[in-house]
Amino acid sequence: MSNLDTSNAPGGHADQDKAADAANLIALNKVVSFHYKLAEVAPDGSHGDWMEESSGGEPLFYLHGFHNVVVGLERALEGKAVGKSIEITLKPEEAYGPRQPDSVQRVPIKHLQLQQGVTKLKPGMMAAVKTDRGVRSVVVSKVGKFNADVDFNHPLAGRTLYYEIEVVGIRDASAEEIAHGHVHGPGGHHH
Ligand SMILES: [Zn+2]
Repeated sequence: MSNLDTSNAPGGHADQDKAADAANLIALNKVVSFHYKLAEVAPDGSHGDWMEESSGGEPLFYLHGFHNVVVGLERALEGKAVGKSIEITLKPEEAYGPRQPDSVQRVPIKHLQLQQGVTKLKPGMMAAVKTDRGVRSVVVSKVGKFNADVDFNHPLAGRTLYYEIEVVGIRDASAEEIAHGHVHGPGGHHH
């Protein structure tokens, strides 16, 4: 018996372990979970307070290669292993895209779904509106008597973003997940 054969894993032979390691890097059709912190980068290159972070809560799950996450993140995560930490700055084109100035539209207030507990609409609030392409999140920019101006840009559009990422899990996607283009089960879609 070889002294390389640690036999920790059931049926684990050295060459199989090596193949499993090589297979367990982030690539097309892998379900990846990661923790992240996100901050906006100022024009002088400094980044402010964390705007979002998953640390301490559930990691984010996504299906690699299906643009479930912004393109710059997907590119940075390609080929990485569990435990890998990444710090990366993404320009708007690699993240949520540039802001489109013509994405502000006037809609009847009665068509807006307010967040739970909110009774009075104010500028800066998030709301949801039904469109022919599904329910979209919008930021309210102006409130009138019957109508409101809402911004269809993603709230992070036009911003340079700084991410700290830690890869916490990688597994093969199921055929169904690949067919749907998203993750099922914990951290994913339930349907
Ligand atoms: Zn699905």
